Amino acid sequence: MNDKNEADNVSAPGDARKKQTILSGMQPTGSLHVGNLEGALRNWVRLQDEYWMYCCLVDWHALTAEYKDPHVLKDNIFQMAVDFLAAGLDPERCAIFVQSEVKEHAELHLIFSMLITVPTLTRLPTYLEKKQQLDSYGFLGYPVLQAADICLYNAHKVPVGKDQEKHIWLANDLASRFNSLYRKVFNEPVGLFTETPLILGADNRKMSKSYNNHLPLDFTEKQTLKRIKSYYTDPEKVHQGDPGHPEGCPVFLLHQVYTAGASEEIAPPCRSGELGCVDCKTRLSDNLNAALRPIRDRRAQLLAQPDYVWDVLSAGADRARQRARQVMDKVRSAMKMNYRGNKK
Ligand code: SF4
Repeated sequence: MNDKNEADNVSAPGDARKKQTILSGMQPTGSLHVGNLEGALRNWVRLQDEYWMYCCLVDWHALTAEYKDPHVLKDNIFQMAVDFLAAGLDPERCAIFVQSEVKEHAELHLIFSMLITVPTLTRLPTYLEKKQQLDSYGFLGYPVLQAADICLYNAHKVPVGKDQEKHIWLANDLASRFNSLYRKVFNEPVGLFTETPLILGADNRKMSKSYNNHLPLDFTEKQTLKRIKSYYTDPEKVHQGDPGHPEGCPVFLLHQVYTAGASEEIAPPCRSGELGCVDCKTRLSDNLNAALRPIRDRRAQLLAQPDYVWDVLSAGADRARQRARQVMDKVRSAMKMNYRGNKK
């Protein structure tokens, strides 16, 4: 068995200096919100300088829920690509593309699906959580497709939150099975864990579009203020003058991200009762709107140039496909399934 990782010989198109590769993916659900920005996007923007990055809008994954209305995906993809670019992902440093534009994802998914048993998949927590709503064959295979997404670019790392560690485990396991069964082709990917701030929605649950508790990047400043005014706060602090508990308040969590010196400026006057919730929320809205203004301005410019956005996705898919094809050639060769002539 050849110990050398063959796919390491595959250069990252456009930048041979960067040694390691990262794959990040997001389901195209349309425009993004502050939770996506602080929980993932800002991190990706930083990482694109250190790694070669493939940033995939995973439309085939979205089909598990949207299979009846796939027409919604096109606009969702466009809006999400606009937000990626507006937040600072740079198509020169990072291939931004749509999963289904690179058919090799499906090919590697099929191969990986032979290397895992059905009982292993039915024991995975994501399947157990959602199997009542989504009991399709496609949904069962969702984590296998996810593993293929990662390994197709021979990614070394996947930026995830600590709670998503299990998603990487399967990719690592399938890469390792393949390597020991045939020949070492894949890196065995690991999670790249970065501390990200906890961002909660207006109802004090995780910020999510599906809960309608979110702060969309495409809100106007007025809509942002209105949503912040609707935020849950410390229930013991009803009137100005009542002492509050900022540590249990989602507004304070947002202040910690968007207000410089929040621990000194916001927490003590909240505790003493000097700061009322209405003023506190207005200050947050001012600071949040100021921080989002450059992203919103860029967003507006991009919306006026839809052809540019589609061109970015198309060029990103071309670059991703180039890498994917090189990796799949190694896969077919390792499996002795290259049927063109006498090539080994
Ligand atoms: S003053 Fe601010 S931090 Fe304190 S409870 Fe009210 S909204 Fe929360």
